[in-house]
Amino acid sequence: MSEEHGPDFAEDVDIALVEAIGEPGQRRFRLIVGLNDRTTIMWMEKQQLEALGQAIGRILDQVDVSGVASEAVAEGGMFDLDTRHQFRVGRIEIGYNHDRQRVLIVAYDIESDEDESPSLAALFPLSLAKVLSERAADVVAAGRPRCVLCGMPMGPGPHACAEQNGHLIHYT
Ligand SMILES: [Zn+2]
Repeated sequence: MSEEHGPDFAEDVDIALVEAIGEPGQRRFRLIVGLNDRTTIMWMEKQQLEALGQAIGRILDQVDVSGVASEAVAEGGMFDLDTRHQFRVGRIEIGYNHDRQRVLIVAYDIESDEDESPSLAALFPLSLAKVLSERAADVVAAGRPRCVLCGMPMGPGPHACAEQNGHLIHYT
């Protein structure tokens, strides 16, 4: 989906971090966002994080980010990890704000009702969106082999390689 303008209440993100917590096989995933000195932690399923990273990547593909450097990766110590603003992500919406050149992420608590307002509405600068997209792929792919052609993580299942115009490569 594309949304030209975010909700009026969307806040600018200062720093963000994607990480996996726990042992392989039992890992939990979270996106930590710092806005206006407030830390918000979004707990996500692996598939949600992967989809989020890919969706951001697709937005960045349509914007010229060649001159945009990835933001330095934030560290856990930069956030209030005991924050009360924590929730499990249900619905999530992503858009692009052309005027402000920011990626908009709107996330809803999985336990919220249909008509409830989102738990997070945040605008990510392109440099931060870029590193977020990259980090999401890395964190999700941890331990998975990377394709020698395109550098993206392989499997499980057949790999649609960008360097092969999306032709499937079966990894054995
Ligand atoms: Zn590939």
